[in-house]
Amino acid sequence: MTDIASNISLLKQRIPSSVKLIAVSKTKPVSAILTAYNSGQRYFGENRVQELLNKVDLLPRDIEWHLIGHLQSNKVKYIVPFISMIQSVDSFKLLKIINSEASKINRVVDCLLQIHIASEETKFGFSMKELFEMVESQEFMNMKHVRICGVMGMATFTSDAGQVSKEFSYLADCFNSLKNRYFAGNQHFKEISMGMSGDYEIAIKEGSTIVRIGSIIFGERPL
Ligand SMILES: *Cc1c(COP(=O)(O)O)cnc(C)c1O
Repeated sequence: MTDIASNISLLKQRIPSSVKLIAVSKTKPVSAILTAYNSGQRYFGENRVQELLNKVDLLPRDIEWHLIGHLQSNKVKYIVPFISMIQSVDSFKLLKIINSEASKINRVVDCLLQIHIASEETKFGFSMKELFEMVESQEFMNMKHVRICGVMGMATFTSDAGQVSKEFSYLADCFNSLKNRYFAGNQHFKEISMGMSGDYEIAIKEGSTIVRIGSIIFGERPL
């Protein structure tokens, strides 16, 4: 087995089968993605639209691509035709644009609401107040071309496992209050995307249903 294939296989032994593994392939070449694909991996995550577009046409059609990085409004139209899930919806404005681009091609796009859970200012995401305002609005309720499948978050980059654990537990609480108040009868609203190479084990303990892992599979990225 190649390193990439054995890294995936080892990871899969440590992740419950109910948790979906997204292989984060940003900065990595098509050949590395193909190696992972040939070992059975079908879910891949990228954080830049241009890089994703460059790769998509060179790779098998049955890959499910997840966008996990901040998405600019003017780039939405390029990914809406093929993207499996946009995990990084971080504003109402962006969600409206996804909905309108998807309606033009009569698609329904799966989305996660990214929530700001880290202490760092730089990480994108909604506050709970913003989310409640959005989901209570008539405009939100009228959207027919986005399907809200849950929440996503990134913990603070720190070696303090206690802090990371608290942030993930907060994200799980956010998921539960949204679920109870607004999505109770909605079987699509079920995902909590949290956990990366450095913190996926903590995330799974706190209830993650999707982990997004790059470095453990493909090796470290240059800074
Ligand atoms: C890069 C990235 C990951 C994966 O990071 P690793 O530490 O390499 O596993 C996960 N989620 C997001 C949003 C990322 O940008």
